[in-house]
Amino acid sequence: MNSLRPESGNFSTHLANAGVALDASLEHDPGDAMQRFDDWDRVLSGALPEHSSGIGATVDSLLSDVLPNGTRLPYPGFWGWITSGPSTAAAVAAAVANVAAPQRYTITAFNRLEELSLEWLAELCGLQPHMKGVYSSGGSAANLVALGAARQWAFAQRDIDPAADGLDGISVAIYTSTEAHHSVQRSAGVLGLGRRSVRLVPIDDRQRMRIDVLAEMMERDATAGVIPVAVVAAAGTTNTGAIDPLRQVGELARQHGAWFHVDGAYGLPGILDDRVTHLYDGLDLADSVIVDPHKWLGAPVGIGATFVRDRSILFDAFTQEPSDYLDGAFVDDPETSLDSMGIPYGDFGVELSAPSRGVVVWAILTELGREGMTARIVEDNDFARHVAGRAQAEPALELVTEPTLSICCFRHVAPEGADADEFNQQLLRRLVRETGYMPSSTSVNGHFAIRPCFINLRTTLADVDGFVDAVLRIGAELVDDRDA
Ligand SMILES: *Cc1c(COP(=O)(O)O)cnc(C)c1O
Repeated sequence: MNSLRPESGNFSTHLANAGVALDASLEHDPGDAMQRFDDWDRVLSGALPEHSSGIGATVDSLLSDVLPNGTRLPYPGFWGWITSGPSTAAAVAAAVANVAAPQRYTITAFNRLEELSLEWLAELCGLQPHMKGVYSSGGSAANLVALGAARQWAFAQRDIDPAADGLDGISVAIYTSTEAHHSVQRSAGVLGLGRRSVRLVPIDDRQRMRIDVLAEMMERDATAGVIPVAVVAAAGTTNTGAIDPLRQVGELARQHGAWFHVDGAYGLPGILDDRVTHLYDGLDLADSVIVDPHKWLGAPVGIGATFVRDRSILFDAFTQEPSDYLDGAFVDDPETSLDSMGIPYGDFGVELSAPSRGVVVWAILTELGREGMTARIVEDNDFARHVAGRAQAEPALELVTEPTLSICCFRHVAPEGADADEFNQQLLRRLVRETGYMPSSTSVNGHFAIRPCFINLRTTLADVDGFVDAVLRIGAELVDDRDA
């Protein structure tokens, strides 16, 4: 008979079985789960179980019904969005932390690595030594935390505490480019600043914020008495990987007394590639910066980081009201790990309970070192440049944007009389359905483009060439179909 209590040990058997199944599944791209929808949906659509199935049957079903019908993100040909599968070290660290340190608090090795890994990450990405961090679930949450700090600081200058008193009828602005991630608008909405307070600055022909227009907008608002809360620059836009002119944007923000936030969710680690390091000039002016370890560093999804020049601003913005269940439980002079919360990350953001994420980042950086991580970033940027080179060399292809980092936007030339956007849309659908190559698409200057973003640690140059060959083959077939 199966027990009424959950199994709470024997990880050696079950994690080992899971490891065997994961290794096997990563050997070959299983194709799309939708092709087998009827099989797994039938198996998994049962009613709420009344009785225990036991650990053995549960793990068996997990490994044979669920695991093989997962997403294709970890496979070498996936270059959509900006996420892929974690490295082994990162996945193992996350699994161990889930069990051994389910919270990041109290003075433990995990709590220590939370802070140490944030320091390493800041150093790796060229941030100033005074920048202190806090983890959250990803770039969207990290931007929210950064802009919460911006709001707190902007109003503290005017003797208003927005976290305590709210904002009533005060006119504010946040400036960012038309290419900014939409989490900026969402943050403005959530923080009570209003989505409409976000001013979208137009971009130049390389998708970077136009500094002349930003200056005009800020001047005009200043004259009208609008409070400039923050200027948000991208260090690697989601669409094309463009890097805004950070120093100029930062100087303008300073001049107007606005908080300068740099969104490097994707692109911040790009600073490791000597060929583009100069584009990050001005990062030293940042009041806050974010980076997503779950993007380019290869952490499992659920890890973003916000860095600010002064964590006490985060504390003012996000601290909780005193609570009976926490206060009084800790002393200043801890003798046991449970005497102290350790660093109170829960007061620096919007999460209280949260996993120990630092150990994952620590594991990634310990496995690779700065040297290994640099090699990864450089190789990914090389892949994008390689695609760009082929797009320029092949008469049937056209390069849409010169890559800055590891994103290359290009498209197939459409036959006479065909709509190029529609043609490439069709090509991309076929590519994704028929091959193991899964870039995403975007719109650049109003034109549809195929957009591979290379951050996937399983990708090789052979995959990249196979992808360009497949685009050429499917493109040629579509042209033939039209002619037929
Ligand atoms: C991905 C991304 C975000 C959002 O990050 P999530 O982890 O998906 O929430 C924010 N900004 C930029 C520039 C991004 O590329």
